[in-house]
Amino acid sequence: GIEPPLLELAGVRAGYGPIEVLHGVDLAVPAGSVVALLGPNGAGKTTTLNVCCGLQRPSSGELRLAGRSVTGASAETLARLGVCTIPERRGIFPNLTVRENLWMMTQARSWPRGKQARSWSRGAQAQPGVSLRDVEEIAYARFPVLGERRGQLAGTLSGGQQQMLALTRALGTDPAVLLLDELSMGLAPRVVRELYEIVGRLAAEGMSILIVEQFARTVLPIADQVALMLHGRIVNVGAPSEVEEHLSAAYLGA
Ligand code: ATP
Repeated sequence: GIEPPLLELAGVRAGYGPIEVLHGVDLAVPAGSVVALLGPNGAGKTTTLNVCCGLQRPSSGELRLAGRSVTGASAETLARLGVCTIPERRGIFPNLTVRENLWMMTQARSWPRGKQARSWSRGAQAQPGVSLRDVEEIAYARFPVLGERRGQLAGTLSGGQQQMLALTRALGTDPAVLLLDELSMGLAPRVVRELYEIVGRLAAEGMSILIVEQFARTVLPIADQVALMLHGRIVNVGAPSEVEEHLSAAYLGA
């Protein structure tokens, strides 16, 4: 049969108190693909991600993981099921060094282990009882600049380098679906390209990724599908080439 999407929203309505912000959102992230959710300020993109990771409950509609309804599940439950997001503050410790941050990650006991490992670390897999050395090896292979800066306080890294550390932490949870909200925010275009190259490689290794961006230009090259959101509705879905004509200058970011 046909494999269900790894992550799926069906007819989702959600909002804040009496104010409905999402008016029946349908969105699917097929396994191993990158879906870019684009739209102007206030369209409801962040609210959509919040529903996906259990930070917000839909008032109606369904959230499904690999075809199974997980509507109303808590953020903890969804995290355990492999839905992973980078928290607003990036979840890193600014007053610890890069290496100390990596050590903290070993204490989270969530690094891919043995045969439970889902995807990303194939070839450089951390073993049961993950050690700092394992985590360092994986992190520095993926992000060489973090190796060069291992002794530097995380709070003094550049924005892009902090995102790399945050991504390392996120990947340490061995996610099935990675949710990214405006990764490009406040970063130089060159850094954004670098980060998205890495995200593209994760997808090539089989991870499913939902990326929210306000501007399309940087994310289009790695997106398999683009969903355009306007006023709490998905108004267009398709391959980047199909959706491109609907992308106004506003979406592309002049
Ligand atoms: P942005 O790029 O500005 O974050 P967005 O597309 O992510 O925009 P949301 O953050 O999902 O949009 O916001 C959608 C609507 O919900 C907006 O009108 C916003 O004002 C409203 N909203 C967001 N968060 C809250 C909140 N905590 N309480 C009340 N209204 C909210």
